[in-house]
Amino acid sequence: MDKMSCKFNFSAGPANLPKEVMVKAQSEFLDWNGTGMSVMEMSHRGKEYAPILENAKVNLRKLLNIPNNYKALFLQGGAVTQNFMVPMNLLNNQTASYVISGYWSKRTFNDAQPFSGINIAASSEDINYTKAPDFNSWDIKASDAYVHFCLNETVNGVEYFEDPKVNNVPVVCDMSSTILSRPIDISRYGVIYAGAQKNIGPAGLTILIVRDDLLDFSDKKTPSTFNWKTQSENNSMINTPSSYGIYIAGLVFDWLLRQGGIKVLEDINIKKSNYLYNFIDSSDFYINNIDKQNRSRMNVTFDIQNDELNSNFVIEAEKAGLFGLKGHRMVGGLRASIYNAMPYEGILALVEYMKEFEKKY
Ligand code: PMP
Repeated sequence: MDKMSCKFNFSAGPANLPKEVMVKAQSEFLDWNGTGMSVMEMSHRGKEYAPILENAKVNLRKLLNIPNNYKALFLQGGAVTQNFMVPMNLLNNQTASYVISGYWSKRTFNDAQPFSGINIAASSEDINYTKAPDFNSWDIKASDAYVHFCLNETVNGVEYFEDPKVNNVPVVCDMSSTILSRPIDISRYGVIYAGAQKNIGPAGLTILIVRDDLLDFSDKKTPSTFNWKTQSENNSMINTPSSYGIYIAGLVFDWLLRQGGIKVLEDINIKKSNYLYNFIDSSDFYINNIDKQNRSRMNVTFDIQNDELNSNFVIEAEKAGLFGLKGHRMVGGLRASIYNAMPYEGILALVEYMKEFEKKY
């Protein structure tokens, strides 16, 4: 068989999961905890499933240190569904401001256009998203229902490393590609949401963390499945949740706790991304133009000076067992997504491959 086999998966998402988690899931796939059932075939309302959801919830709260006045919901629809759920649940006939720091936050802004009163607080589009707009440049109205921003832009590789200090206006944040990669101060946010398929688990599950006082502003036309308050009152089960996805997320949370929590992961993530960026900076062959203050620890974007070589880079990388290095279809170039589950050895292997490729060309 001459099929190439993946040693390290650098895909932006769905992304690699910790090996230990996969092995554990495999070992209990047919029989969870002596029940004789797979988690996949259990009723989400049954007594067998209840502790799986509860455990995932408790451990997510522990990992992120979620204060008591916040709810953690396990929703469906992916992060992009929040592009209209956020205005439906919060706008309340007011205005809202959107920070545009890359492809995803621009898309969030565009998706909110059917609603009125959607404004731009700041944008780095004119500099090709090479730097995230400074917090102090955000133009927010005191009467805004919320300000929306994205903590880490997966496509462009641009990340904020501080929590925003915005008083009086609730901050809504898309954390899809950086949640659980480092500690955050939840109290700085009104709403946090994240698609699961990077640092949490399989696609199809969306985590939403919302401050209690923000549950009372939904538009009357909001359907129950899209209404955060209804979901919260029904333990994220107004309909069938992504039950297997929640189970895997729970295994990932257990794994994160065994590693020592997300401060430990942060240190490893700093080490991993520094190693890769330092190599890129030391080379004349590879380039990364993102402002050093905002270089993403999760999604390292780069280009080869001669961009015709990008496709060779991807093809030959796969032969070396390194998958998922192609940049996003909207921006091209190359990208290594190095979430929590990517071991340091994966970075070493990638840098070795990059050195070899540079030598060859
Ligand atoms: N926001 C960010 C920051 C993302 O990285 C992604 C997915 N790559 C999305 C939103 C969209 O997520 P989904 O496909 O789950 O809707």
